[in-house]
Amino acid sequence: HHAGAVPNLAASARPPFDVHAIRTDFPILQERVNGRQLVWFDNAATTQKPQSVIDRIAYFYAHENSNIHRAAHELAARATDAYEAARKKVTRFLGAASPEEIIFVRGTTEGINLIANTWGEQQIGKDDEIIVSHLEHHANIVPWQQLAARKGAKLRVIPVDDNGQVMLSEFSRLLNSRTRLVSVTQVSNALGTVVPVAQIIELAHQAGAKVLVDGAQSVSHIRVNVQALDADFFVFSGHKLFAPTGIGVVYGKRALLEEMPPWQGGGNMIADVSFERTVYQPPPARFEAGTGNIADAVGLGAAIDYIERIGIENIARYEHDLLVYATHGMQAIPGVRLVGTAQDKASVLSFVLAGYQTEQVGKALNEEGIAVRSGHHCAQPILRRFGLEATVRPSLAFYNTCEEVDRLVAVVARLATQRR
Ligand code: PLP
Repeated sequence: HHAGAVPNLAASARPPFDVHAIRTDFPILQERVNGRQLVWFDNAATTQKPQSVIDRIAYFYAHENSNIHRAAHELAARATDAYEAARKKVTRFLGAASPEEIIFVRGTTEGINLIANTWGEQQIGKDDEIIVSHLEHHANIVPWQQLAARKGAKLRVIPVDDNGQVMLSEFSRLLNSRTRLVSVTQVSNALGTVVPVAQIIELAHQAGAKVLVDGAQSVSHIRVNVQALDADFFVFSGHKLFAPTGIGVVYGKRALLEEMPPWQGGGNMIADVSFERTVYQPPPARFEAGTGNIADAVGLGAAIDYIERIGIENIARYEHDLLVYATHGMQAIPGVRLVGTAQDKASVLSFVLAGYQTEQVGKALNEEGIAVRSGHHCAQPILRRFGLEATVRPSLAFYNTCEEVDRLVAVVARLATQRR
């Protein structure tokens, strides 16, 4: 459990972090739902977009729109420059060594499937082992099950303790000479657990295995540096980072990407095609067949600019305090069971309320303009680990406030009282 006193939110909101100024950057936060100002507590599902991202996409279509790389005219040059500038922003944001290590995809799901169908297809054989954690989103389970079934490989699972943290000692026991890949989330979307991926990577590398980190829930909350982590692959979705849907990123170490076969074939990924033989492009183009999501990649670059202006460390500090505040508020309500009580957590407050179905709680919150997810969060194995099929899941971002948390707590407390 989070120890210590309720933090002073005003103290963490000191400049340059001013949550009320930040909120004016997000037009949707002014929206009214059921007569109340919207409270967006569904950030783990997707995040809202600042005006600068919305404007950047509109600017692209008004002034730069073209297909990239292929034409020798002014707008092709503008579009290509904008797209490649976004790739450089992602490179810096992740601490990658070079833009050649950054592949644009649709999102985390497509990114994991890409690695399973390229590196995995090439490197995983019969009786090889792939390790995931019990916390994984279905996107980081199913592609490995499919690969294991094709190859006759085994999927093994790192167990979690009662707080929802992975058990490193059990992980060490699972590692062996057949382990080829460890694929783990950095932050659990269902419980909010921050997984010690640096230690996992170190142990996996000692055993000769490669590591993929699912960064879908981490990039918007904590500083990521893929080189400092020594991650082999890292994937995330733009839409969970205040950028548009339909754009995401695969980071891969250059030496790995260069050895990997392509997945999808088509335009852009080739150097030369004849009916006898095709020569592929080097990475990243080898993995970007067809026309990509150009405008939304540019939007992702704008989202990264926006976040870097605020500072991810400032965001992390503010959100930590807000999560502690919310945890205290929720814990005090009789009948609330918090699911996921690890020391190190980000954003997520999963809970069930005695006497209520999770959908009933979600509906009651929606009536007050508060958006949360209730359901299995595409992570059924971890909920079942706690004997549940569903939870109510408020998930916080840096534009949320303690006043909004108070509104959440008030509604849940009222439901709890009505029941007794
Ligand atoms: N992995 C985690 C941890 C997630 O939270 C999500 C989205 O909820 C995904 C993967 C899948 O992301 P997407 O649906 O953007 O591909």
